[in-house]
Amino acid sequence: MGPPGAGKGTQARHIVERYGLRHVATGDVLRENVQRDTELGRVAKGYMDSGQLVPDELIIDMLRALIADLPEGQGVLLDGFPRTVAQAEALESMLDALGRRVDLALDIEVPADVLVERLSSRWICRTCGTSYNAATHPPQTPGVCDLDGGELYQRDDDTPGAVRKRLEVYAEQTAPVSAFYENCGVRRVLDGNRDRAVVEDAIDDAFAALAA
Ligand code: AMP
Repeated sequence: MGPPGAGKGTQARHIVERYGLRHVATGDVLRENVQRDTELGRVAKGYMDSGQLVPDELIIDMLRALIADLPEGQGVLLDGFPRTVAQAEALESMLDALGRRVDLALDIEVPADVLVERLSSRWICRTCGTSYNAATHPPQTPGVCDLDGGELYQRDDDTPGAVRKRLEVYAEQTAPVSAFYENCGVRRVLDGNRDRAVVEDAIDDAFAALAA
């Protein structure tokens, strides 16, 4: 969990590589649907471009399908889901039915002014999804991914208006999900306003505590 720009996607890459989890990012799945011009993509695009959440029923159905396809016993990293208490409750009942549970809810906190700066200068590789920051972590060649030479792009919802709306929506609808996982005893708060390697170490500590 964490507001837009907190570094969820970046840290998700570290987590799936290190812990062998399957990365399920609802925002990525929605963007793929928009690109393929599916029925879901056509409905979702308007909400996404204006920085609003896609309605719960659509997202919950989409997640149910994604989870149903996983091999038994495969651990999952959910990125960008749940974003409302209704989604968190739906997830609980889906997992109950499968005899599974949420072990850890990592909650990355970053001040709002830092988020706005990060998102407005964010460039992402079309091929591998690596994020760059034009000011603090630029690619070696502008517009080109250092890792695989893929084209870098800016997201349609990283515009100032959509970013403002996404932060508002986060405070109103997603912040209560933190309290939900706090009550379940699985929430771990991380200070995301530090170098990515330092945040990675804090995440590793959280996983180590889980295994202990
Ligand atoms: P993200 O890539 O996680 O920042 O998501 C981009 C956009 O996709 C969000 O601003 C929402 O419009 C939509 N979205 C992604 N995940 C969800 C979710 N769990 N519930 C509702 N909308 C979502």
